[in-house]
Amino acid sequence: MLENVIEFFRNLPEKKCATCGETIEEQHECYGNQCDNCNSI
Ligand SMILES: [Zn+2]
Repeated sequence: MLENVIEFFRNLPEKKCATCGETIEEQHECYGNQCDNCNSI
């Protein structure tokens, strides 16, 4: 069961910042397609 959950998240496409290309760790919808640094600008 637990392994299936891990595999599920592993298969999710990485969310990357549209500005700098940095992988976005946060999964909040409000971040849009930008990382924390670029989002604050
Ligand atoms: Zn960025």
